[in-house]
Amino acid sequence: MSQHTEVAIIGGGVIGLAAAWELAGVGLRVVLFERDRIGGQASGAAAGLLAPASEQLTPPAFFELGRLSLARYPELSAAVREESGIDPELQLSGVLRVAYDEEHVQRLEVLAATGVLGATVLSSVEVRAQEPLLTERIAGGVFFREEGHLASPRLVAALAAAATRRGAVIHEGTPVTSLRWEGERVVGVESAAGTTRAEVVVLAAGAWSGLLGVAPLPVTPVRGQILALAPGQARLQRPVFGPTTYLVPKPDGTIAAGSTEDRAGFCREPTVRGLRTVLSGVEELAPTLAEAVFLRAWAGLRPDTPDHLPLLGFLAPGLIVATGHYRNGILLAPITAACVRCLILGTPPPLDLAPFSPARFSALAEPHRSG
Ligand SMILES: Cc1cc2nc3c(=O)[nH]c(=O)nc-3n(C[C@H](O)[C@H](O)[C@H](O)COP(=O)(O)OP(=O)(O)OC[C@H]3O[C@@H](n4cnc5c(N)ncnc54)[C@H](O)[C@@H]3O)c2cc1C
Repeated sequence: MSQHTEVAIIGGGVIGLAAAWELAGVGLRVVLFERDRIGGQASGAAAGLLAPASEQLTPPAFFELGRLSLARYPELSAAVREESGIDPELQLSGVLRVAYDEEHVQRLEVLAATGVLGATVLSSVEVRAQEPLLTERIAGGVFFREEGHLASPRLVAALAAAATRRGAVIHEGTPVTSLRWEGERVVGVESAAGTTRAEVVVLAAGAWSGLLGVAPLPVTPVRGQILALAPGQARLQRPVFGPTTYLVPKPDGTIAAGSTEDRAGFCREPTVRGLRTVLSGVEELAPTLAEAVFLRAWAGLRPDTPDHLPLLGFLAPGLIVATGHYRNGILLAPITAACVRCLILGTPPPLDLAPFSPARFSALAEPHRSG
């Protein structure tokens, strides 16, 4: 069976779904293929931090990508909530970044001096006045008032429902097995559903993006292990980034604590060592949480690239790559979707995409297909 669409998207994580929602919103016919289930991989595992400054994104072009994306979240969140009835629970609560020694405090102060994202320098006493759970070891910190967080699983569910309502067709349990080429041009995909011809294919398969025979696409999986705690009466008002661990308070009173960055191929199970690393970081940052109830642990695979920057642009005629968002795919979903729309419609993108071009890796400059 052969079908035809304007845009075929590979991957039902936050990137593919945000693109589907955005493109369906401008009237394009979109078909999205998800191998397993929507949000079943990194996007459903994420802590949901929206924190380009706390994450200390560099170089400046990458920080700008994050800042512009964060700025789009209030509108995106309200729109998908309205269209889907699912609230992504966006909270622009601010994010606190703390350090244990003067050297790191000074580095944070340099960042804060720019006033970026409402940055305010806090002394050790001020940090603990804001968050009494935190250790006395803290030497100081910076509060980024304009940062925030959301519930990633709710965001992907909301995007999927809203994209469907806008007319996008989502096939779950349908792996794309290969791209369809005519000469140097990509003209569609092969999947369990047969051949789908498309004017444009958007490759948004996260950590698996390099496995589809577009060679070479240097995306590798980096496992992140994360856990949930029930802190009892103890409360955290806002997310806190410590030197090794972050804590994110959720609306149900639990705290998500993460996360490791370890390489174990495509294995996405948590390990003893990984959880021990996160748990020691939790106890170091907020000693009271040693008494919290351990609820559960999980892991996801972040799509990494050699320079840790996303791949965002045309890789061949008819083929847009939108992946490699590594630690910040939730944050970067709105701007990525907007850029994909601009690339397809031929309108100027919100910022210069040259630093994120898939062609920046010389071997990618002349993409070729295998098989
Ligand atoms: C523990 C952890 C915490 C994180 N915390 C944050 C955070 O706080 N803030 C933040 O911004 N980011 C965070 N991230 C990073 C973020 O989760 C990722 O950058 C983002 O989810 C990547 O989205 P994606 O859509 O590219 O990939 P994914 O969510 O992995 O989606 C890719 C999808 O493609 C599908 N797929 C693969 N191959 C095929 C195929 N051949 N055919 C069809 N479908 C296919 C997969 O099944 C998958 O569903 C975290 C990640 C982890 C692991």
